[in-house]
Amino acid sequence: MPIKSGKQYIDRIDSSGVEVWVHGERVRNAISVHPAFRGVVSTQASLYDMQGEEEFRAEMTFASPTTGDPVGLSFLRPITKNDLVRRRRMMSLWAGRHHGFLGRAPDYMNTAVMAFGAASGFLSEHNPLYAENMKRYYEYCRENDITLSHAFIVPHSGRMSTFVHTLELPDTAQVIEKNKDGIVVSGAFLLATQGVTAEEILIFPAPLPSLAEENPHAFAFAVPNDLPGIRFICRESFSAGHSPYDYPLSSRFEEMDTLVVFDRVLVPHDRVFLCGDEELAARFTEQSHFHTHATHQVLCRNIAKTEFVLGTVESIVKMLGLRTYSQVVEKAAEVIASLETLKALLLAAEHRAEPDRWGTMLPDPGPLYTANFLYPKLYPRMVEIVQLIGASGLVMIPGEADFRSPISGDLSRYLKGIDVDGRQKVGLFRLAWEMSASSFAGRQTLYERFFFGDSVKVASRLYNNYDDKEAYSGKVARFVSGETMASSGNGSGV
Ligand SMILES: Cc1cc2nc3c(=O)[nH]c(=O)nc-3n(C[C@H](O)[C@H](O)[C@H](O)COP(=O)(O)OP(=O)(O)OC[C@H]3O[C@@H](n4cnc5c(N)ncnc54)[C@H](O)[C@@H]3O)c2cc1C
Repeated sequence: MPIKSGKQYIDRIDSSGVEVWVHGERVRNAISVHPAFRGVVSTQASLYDMQGEEEFRAEMTFASPTTGDPVGLSFLRPITKNDLVRRRRMMSLWAGRHHGFLGRAPDYMNTAVMAFGAASGFLSEHNPLYAENMKRYYEYCRENDITLSHAFIVPHSGRMSTFVHTLELPDTAQVIEKNKDGIVVSGAFLLATQGVTAEEILIFPAPLPSLAEENPHAFAFAVPNDLPGIRFICRESFSAGHSPYDYPLSSRFEEMDTLVVFDRVLVPHDRVFLCGDEELAARFTEQSHFHTHATHQVLCRNIAKTEFVLGTVESIVKMLGLRTYSQVVEKAAEVIASLETLKALLLAAEHRAEPDRWGTMLPDPGPLYTANFLYPKLYPRMVEIVQLIGASGLVMIPGEADFRSPISGDLSRYLKGIDVDGRQKVGLFRLAWEMSASSFAGRQTLYERFFFGDSVKVASRLYNNYDDKEAYSGKVARFVSGETMASSGNGSGV
């Protein structure tokens, strides 16, 4: 089956027998109508619908190499630079629809399985069956437009070996049995954003050390959400209501985060991509260039989000008449500079792309890892700028019900902005509040801070992969040793 529609997405989510817990209660009704999920399900359904719409179809799909039917373009394995451009256009269309607030829009994991599938040959070093499983899983996701979430980290309780110097980790997710049907996994995975609103989950934890010959903590696999023994435990919902006026962001884009518990779950052999070898697990992430391909998608999203923040800042500036204050203009200019930097990094990465050893066109990691390094700093600063410019306007934000009540006259009169009535002005400020000062905003900021790991990991990924630094230190060495000025005047490597 090729691309799915929004309705098909909803039908699949609702017909799954997934075990979900919200506020201590098991969810018994359809996921798509539950208050904790319905906003994001509806937004995501509209993304799937876009793929089939006449206006977008050509840009958002490509002909399946196996059936010729249209499949989602974020599954396309790029072979040429033009393929990267096509991927960017498609992903930007989706990001433009959710304004970058869906960190786990389906194209994120579509890109991940594309990267893993394209490098599946690497797994054959360990076990040709695993390589075949990975390749087939990518094709299965592409041909069925599977919505996927992922969990790559384990709870803190499972990492305690670092402190207690023991490699005995009974509470840590592990393979507890292997039998003729598959591997049996028990334990928990700390975080799967959109775990409940996806159909399947890819589990690929950074492996913990083990003394065993086959490391029970080293594995990668993907399974349907409703396999017996899987439980999703949700955090509190950050969508306080469903009025798009009162909660313009969270009513549409609240992505639930879940703790995923595996209680003796049988993972069929054909869904196992790795098992027992921690070194191979670490090398596969690197060899598949997961971070590079994923960041190409992430950067499209970050750009859409930054455009939306800039639009919000500029709207406040206009509505309050702040353009005459140079300190306000300076802050707005900071957001513009962030946006232009991100756009330039994206184009540079595509321009300097090279095929990898599998023949997949790989965007230049230098600009992409630079974006990974910058965005966790840029985004919290942009949020701060919204707070600094919005000031008290961010708290004096009565809701839709107030504007429908007998005191609406007061609100329209006293809360108006330049050329807009109170209702319009408060509408903008409710958006700015959700962006910068609500629980939804706090989670978004945390999310951008830790998107690709803690800052130490992100910095070392950039530093360790940046080969040009050797050439530059050589240049300085030649300069210091007094070699000809000509050799250090050869221009930059741009
Ligand atoms: C909102 C949100 C959604 C997420 N969604 C997903 C998801 O869908 N799937 C998924 O797999 N993951 C998800 N994550 C997890 C994300 O990948 C992790 O938060 C990130 O990798 C950091 O790991 P941690 O949270 O365990 O931090 P920790 O490792 O517990 O770090 C705690 C602190 O210690 C510091 N620290 C840790 N290690 C070092 C070190 N070696 N050197 C110096 N300092 C160190 C960190 O910088 C941080 O300040 C999500 C996280 C958030 C916040």
